[in-house]
Amino acid sequence: MEKKNIDWSALGFGYIQTDKRFVSNYKNGAWDEGVLTDDATVVISECAGVLQYSQSCFEGLKAYTTQDGHIVCFRPDLNASRMKDSCERLEMPVFPEDRWVQAVVDVVKANAAYVPPYGSGATLYIRPYMFGSSAVIGVKPAEEYQFRIFTTPVGPYFKGGAKPITIRVSDVDRAAPRGTGHIKAGLNYAMSLYNIVDAHNKGFDENMYLDPATRTKVEETGGANFLFVTKDNTVVTPKSSSILPSITRRSLLYVAKEYLGLKTEEREVYLDEVRDFAECGLCGTAAVISPVGKIVDHGKEICMPSGMNEMGPVTKKLYDTLTGIQMGSIEAPEGWIKVIE
Ligand SMILES: *Cc1c(COP(=O)(O)O)cnc(C)c1O
Repeated sequence: MEKKNIDWSALGFGYIQTDKRFVSNYKNGAWDEGVLTDDATVVISECAGVLQYSQSCFEGLKAYTTQDGHIVCFRPDLNASRMKDSCERLEMPVFPEDRWVQAVVDVVKANAAYVPPYGSGATLYIRPYMFGSSAVIGVKPAEEYQFRIFTTPVGPYFKGGAKPITIRVSDVDRAAPRGTGHIKAGLNYAMSLYNIVDAHNKGFDENMYLDPATRTKVEETGGANFLFVTKDNTVVTPKSSSILPSITRRSLLYVAKEYLGLKTEEREVYLDEVRDFAECGLCGTAAVISPVGKIVDHGKEICMPSGMNEMGPVTKKLYDTLTGIQMGSIEAPEGWIKVIE
């Protein structure tokens, strides 16, 4: 298959329309067969549930070319099951998980010409999403839904090496106790836009959100989970019912324990103890791990011992091992790599 004429290394993280997308409609209590279509537009009622009451959720994963030339994606079954959880919380119909994974495979195959080559650092980002499409004016779930998956090639997350970022402790909360922080709902992002723009205007890269009930514990940023390393090399990630369960973070904890022989802890992490950690990173599909060099709490600076120039040594080992597993240079645990072609 002939690749598209794209300068892969110059790609950023933006939307580029590709040839095909998957669309399935839910009507009269059932999902239809679904199709791959050229039509990149969505036409829905002016009164659609998603437009009036934000009934929507999404997922994000990547397809990429491995060292031996296969196109693969990473643990798509976990994205399918997380979207099931999102749908159930938002009173949306679940798209069956096996069909979900198959639809990802089909749409990536149909856009194989856009999957960046091995070594380019670029990937094909996959965006599955669902929304209430029928008219809703009284507050209730829609009766009809659309599930779509589009893909878009994205550039290497770190151009010229992973530089540690500076984040601030946020005064705004991203999730309510017993709210929707644990699901991937668009509404969680809508309410965080004000705060990320404000952070950027003040010179910070990200917001560190605290637990909304007591504001004493670390939760996550707007779109990535925290990972800390103690001075004696234990990998610690915050535990809370209002954190989105990152697949990258869960995979990194497994890698820490089973591949690197490190101690791991998933537990409550108090803001007060952050100054005692040796390393800090943000985990998510986009970057795998972004190193954090500095955390600013209302003028008080917490400088991580790993500094502002490079990833800490344990973070780096985790990053190299997980990306090695993804790219096929390190053997993957059973079921982690879905070969597409
Ligand atoms: C998607 C997301 C993450 C990262 O999850 P991955 O599965 O690792 O990509 C973390 N936090 C939030 C709020 C998210 O929406």
